[in-house]
Amino acid sequence: MQNREAKSHYLDQLKKLQSDLEEAVKDLPLANHAKDIVHGEGIVPAKIMMIGEAPGYNESVQRRPFVGRSGQLLRQVIQDVKLPINEVYISNIVKARPPDNRDPSPEEILAYKPFLDLEIELVDPLLMVTLGRYSMAKFLPDVFISQVHGRLHRVVWNEKLLYVLPMYHPAAGLRSTKVKESFVRDFEKIHKIIQWVEHRQQVDEMKEEVVGAIF
Ligand code: URA
Repeated sequence: MQNREAKSHYLDQLKKLQSDLEEAVKDLPLANHAKDIVHGEGIVPAKIMMIGEAPGYNESVQRRPFVGRSGQLLRQVIQDVKLPINEVYISNIVKARPPDNRDPSPEEILAYKPFLDLEIELVDPLLMVTLGRYSMAKFLPDVFISQVHGRLHRVVWNEKLLYVLPMYHPAAGLRSTKVKESFVRDFEKIHKIIQWVEHRQQVDEMKEEVVGAIF
């Protein structure tokens, strides 16, 4: 994540993305009106991006991601582990509420994919935190969340290196005390992970410079 300052215009691009999304609503599943869309929340670029699944009832009423019961748990844990909320950008795989809060279908995920992909480019996070299996599958297909949660992964996404930390969905934490404990423990690792990623990026940038100086 270089030239953060130079990326301040990303905010304008994010606003454009949001208005494009609202204009495309007639061609998108799950939404009939622009007001059905729940945009991501946070500044761009951001150190940490968190991606959940889909807005629920409260999110669609307030038009903010993660403000219902699972959102309260997520935001409480973010606060408890002292992650500065202004360094966190929160979004979802699909941007409108599936009926009866059912899981989003592959077609629905695909329909919102171009918007999410552009959003990720604009957020340009140092660390991508996936919440639940749908956002995890975007970067880490064919793994089980019970086996990989809380473990940092380095993936190539859209031809770029991305550090991905899969986490349980907070709603799963509301259903099971054990999962909630794991969820909190995984969150407690984020500061150290961020430090490690920052260091690793510096090392990688230095390596690039060395390669450039060989001839
Ligand atoms: N669950 C999600 O995945 N996203 C939200 O915004 C709210 C609940």
